[in-house]
Amino acid sequence: MTKHITLLGATGSIGIQTIDIIKEHPQEFKLVAFSAGRNLDKTREIIREFSPSLVSVQDENDAILLKKEFPSIELAYGSKGLIDVATHPDASVLVNAVLGSVGLESTLEAIKQQKTIALANKETLVTAGHLVMAAAAKYQSPILPVDSEHSALFQSMNGEKRSQVSKLILTASGGSFRDRTRKELESVTIQDALNHPNWSMGAKITIDSATMMNKGLEVIEAQVLFDMSYDDIDVVLHRESIIHSMVEFHDTSVMAQLGTPDMRVPIQYALSYPDRLPRKQAKRLNLVEIGKLHFEEMDLQRFRALQLAYDAGRAGGSMTTVLNAANEAAVALFLNGDIRFLQIEEFIERVMDKHVVITTPDLETILHVDAMTRKAVQNMVK
Ligand code: NDP
Ligand code: MG
Repeated sequence: MTKHITLLGATGSIGIQTIDIIKEHPQEFKLVAFSAGRNLDKTREIIREFSPSLVSVQDENDAILLKKEFPSIELAYGSKGLIDVATHPDASVLVNAVLGSVGLESTLEAIKQQKTIALANKETLVTAGHLVMAAAAKYQSPILPVDSEHSALFQSMNGEKRSQVSKLILTASGGSFRDRTRKELESVTIQDALNHPNWSMGAKITIDSATMMNKGLEVIEAQVLFDMSYDDIDVVLHRESIIHSMVEFHDTSVMAQLGTPDMRVPIQYALSYPDRLPRKQAKRLNLVEIGKLHFEEMDLQRFRALQLAYDAGRAGGSMTTVLNAANEAAVALFLNGDIRFLQIEEFIERVMDKHVVITTPDLETILHVDAMTRKAVQNMVK
């Protein structure tokens, strides 16, 4: 049976690769609605290819413009538009590949409609993991990870008893600056930071990989998805990005998932689960060609942002909302040329230091803390 899919963030890196998978399997998947931000050319291209019934963009004026060009399609915009797409009645699966905590409310609304959520948008789990997981349990809405590490953990745990898992081991490529000292990081440029050795991704997550905050967000994402203690979530530096993550069991067995670095694999798995679909054109893993895989201990002083993420996770409550919002705001400032690379983690640490944790915050509190944190970070440059 064809799965009907809605896609948030269709014009982004994950969004475009999701569309590749939908195109590869036209019998299995159909795109019925999608959202974009400001990239209207790409939006038009996707509309022409799929003739969806609903499309949402970030700004009202763009929605009005597109409505004139495509009168038979329903157009929406802003945060309400994201919710309209996420809850579209004709779809059973939502792929959330929008960037940042802006994806939170639409995820929660889709869960209430009992959609299956293929989740790339890790910021929603970092900012409000307890709300997302509680809603998913209440409405029996499956959350399937798209992030490659979490897909690897999920696959390695398939058919196993969660109570017998003793450790989650996330792998980290090390990002653009893995071989630079902290001293050298003082003068790196935006272009240097955007140059990731293994993965081609959107700008924000590429910067997050360079600061190692991406792995920090992923540690919190893993804690939320798999309900493990932070003491049992490890990170190991693995330059080749071939082992996507590992699960250790009580009997000391370790299960790993391997593959070439290609996000279309975990995207497709989240869409086809519990089945697997063939990928005829894709590059296959050749371990003989690779020869050696390397593993190194993570240095939490060198990669300060990872330490901050563990600290925020252990503090719990609203602290992970602060971590995420401060990071989003600081990375935007860095990409805009307003602050230096090392100021990203410095700003995050400063707002975290000032924050008094609110335990189990509700949605309204989270949105408030998120907005106040962004303001506080922006004020630091003034
Ligand atoms: P991109 O920046 O490439 O794409 C983001 C998408 O979200 C675009 O479609 C963009 O629209 C849209 N968007 C951005 N801001 C808004 C907004 N305020 N309102 C509506 N739409 C908006 O990001 P990625 O694809 O790299 O990442 C998406 C998510 O997936 C992130 O949470 C990231 O952490 C996660 N992820 C990404 C991976 C990757 O390989 N890229 C790997 C694992 C996880 P437009 O471009 O039209 O303006
Ligand atoms: Mg990842």
